[in-house]
Amino acid sequence: MKTHHPQSLFDFLKLFPGEPECIAYLETTRWTNGFTCPECGISDTAQRIATRPRILRCRHCHKDISLTAGTIMHATRTSLQAWFLAAYLMTSKTPGMSALQLQRQLGLSRYETAFQILHKLRVGMVRPSRDSIGLDWPVEVDETLVGGRTRGKGRGVVTSQ
Ligand SMILES: [Zn+2]
Repeated sequence: MKTHHPQSLFDFLKLFPGEPECIAYLETTRWTNGFTCPECGISDTAQRIATRPRILRCRHCHKDISLTAGTIMHATRTSLQAWFLAAYLMTSKTPGMSALQLQRQLGLSRYETAFQILHKLRVGMVRPSRDSIGLDWPVEVDETLVGGRTRGKGRGVVTSQ
C-alpha cells in the first residue's frame, strides 16, 4: 500500500473514511510485506475475527495479536479513526489545541478521553521514533500523515521490476 500524506481534512477523510481503513493502515505500516506472527515468527495470512477487528490470529500458534499493542492506542475504547483524526489535527494547523476543542471536534462524550489522547499524542510526538516501540506510532503519523521522511525506507521496501 502506498501511503500518501493528507494535505487537507478532505484528503484525510478520503484516506481514512472509517475504522476499516485505519485498521488496514496500522496493519500495513507494521507488516509492510504481510503479516508475520511475533510469537512464532511464521509469515502467513492471519485469521480475522469479525467481532474483534483490531485482532489478528496466527493460523499456526493461534496467538491473538493486537494491532494496537505497543502503540499509544493500546487498549483504547476510542475508535482508531478518532485517534487518527486527533493526530491529523495536532500535526496540521492547530497548534496548542485544547482538550476541549479536541473533544468537540471528535464528538467525544468525555472530556477525559480527549485529554488522554492529546496527552499521549504530545508525549509521543516529541520523542524520537526509536525511543520506544510504544511511542513509534504517533511519530509515524507525524511523518506519514503529514509528510516528512519515510520511516523504514530501505528495510522491507519491495521494488517491482
Ligand atoms: Zn504464530
